Amino acid sequence: MEKYVRDKIKDLKSYQVNKVPYTIKLDANEGIDWKDGLNRYPDDSAEELIKKIASWLDKPTEQLLIGNGSSELIELTLKTFLDPDECVVSLDPTFSMYQVFTTIYNGRYAGFKLDDDFEFETDDFIRFIKEEKAKIVLLSNPNNPTGKSIPYNEIIKIVETSDAIVVLDEAYIEFGGESLIDVIDQYDNLIVLRTFSKAFGMAGIRLGYMLSNEGVIDYIKRVKSPYNVNQVTQENGIKALENMSLIKKNIDLIKKERSWLYQELLKLDILPVDSTANFILFKYEKPVAKYLLDEGIQIRKFSGKLDNYYRITVGTNEENQVVIQKLKECIK
Ligand code: PMP
Repeated sequence: MEKYVRDKIKDLKSYQVNKVPYTIKLDANEGIDWKDGLNRYPDDSAEELIKKIASWLDKPTEQLLIGNGSSELIELTLKTFLDPDECVVSLDPTFSMYQVFTTIYNGRYAGFKLDDDFEFETDDFIRFIKEEKAKIVLLSNPNNPTGKSIPYNEIIKIVETSDAIVVLDEAYIEFGGESLIDVIDQYDNLIVLRTFSKAFGMAGIRLGYMLSNEGVIDYIKRVKSPYNVNQVTQENGIKALENMSLIKKNIDLIKKERSWLYQELLKLDILPVDSTANFILFKYEKPVAKYLLDEGIQIRKFSGKLDNYYRITVGTNEENQVVIQKLKECIK
């Protein structure tokens, strides 16, 4: 595992917060309280929240780290492992921020082109990873914006045969696809990222978490800023985990709505891509996004290689009904 870490990072120590009982605390230059104890820095190790996530997933706390959204955890991964001009490999198309972060950290980005059905041959991808001498492979699974998932055994093959750190971004995993969190401690080079922004319906609190082997987590901790996840977020994360039945209900509802939306799009001859996430990608020659926007409805329009493709997030039943109605009007 050490071999992947940037030399500069190897000698860093993680920021240590002295956690001792106190009656008076005057060691951290905090202001005086006027609002619900928010004058204090949050718990840097997020002990309570980490324990809650660990027990929910049945993982040791040492294999977990939280971040200010999973976006921060993607960045921390690049900061820890990627030296200038080293290569990050991902799929094309995929989540656009992978390329942006790679550029910011002076890396070289190589996207492996998916076929017309947004699929790929694993062996070709593995060859691509080798040819590009990838240091990091970033895979959104399910993939944004296609909604397709990579089968479990194919991901295992990629992890086992490549010499790179494989970062599996499971932002949408609660909606479909197979997670690899069971095997994180069996590999030196596997990181799984998750988020509270999608299935948990809590994008507003900016909370993500990373699962990996203890060695990786230890190095990433050296790179993160102290107190990176604020107190209000930590408290809300804990509350969410105490209400898992509600969250599961929402996930079921979204999956049901996804099927309905898919069928309705088919009826409109719109050819949606079958999705394992909480959105559906479809192609249509007419400028439907502009029409919908004039009706006050935002969907995502793509350009370039995905010209004429649109991505629609699965909403509530009422929202989805209105969108389909308006699409019908636009198309006729
Ligand atoms: N990964 C993927 C694949 C995403 O689509 C997104 C958000 N669109 C993120 C990560 C970022 O999630 P977060 O809100 O946890 O930063």
